[in-house]
Amino acid sequence: MELCIFCKILKKEIPAKIISEDELSLSFEDINPQAPVHILIIPKKHYSSLIDIPEEEKSLLGHLMIKAREIAKEKGLEKTGYRLVLNTGKDAGQAVFHIHLHLLGGREMSWPPG
Ligand code: 5GP
Ligand code: ZN
Repeated sequence: MELCIFCKILKKEIPAKIISEDELSLSFEDINPQAPVHILIIPKKHYSSLIDIPEEEKSLLGHLMIKAREIAKEKGLEKTGYRLVLNTGKDAGQAVFHIHLHLLGGREMSWPPG
């Protein structure tokens, strides 16, 4: 079966600007940044979206959040704040079906999102 684009990044078949890697996750810069800091945090295991993740994997979801917090701190975003986004399915505009957390920061953001 054809690997998804983020699985290809995980296998280093497609280049990406890697921010951090550990046993469970990979973090890399978004190719089309929507803020001065725009990093994607993905699990190494392929799950299409939040809908697919079994409840037993809740610690994996926690891991991604903690990772995002760590990176936000390293990027100096603690004082100004940042946004985590987890687009899920069509109406949310999910384009890549390998679950990923967006870490956005470095500018003021509006609410509600479009
Ligand atoms: P989604 O809309 O699915 O939540 O977001 C997918 C994100 O993946 C988009 O922000 C898009 O710019 C990013 N993206 C898509 N393809 C690539 C790629 O090949 N490399 C990187 N680094 N980011 C990608
Ligand atoms: Zn994948």
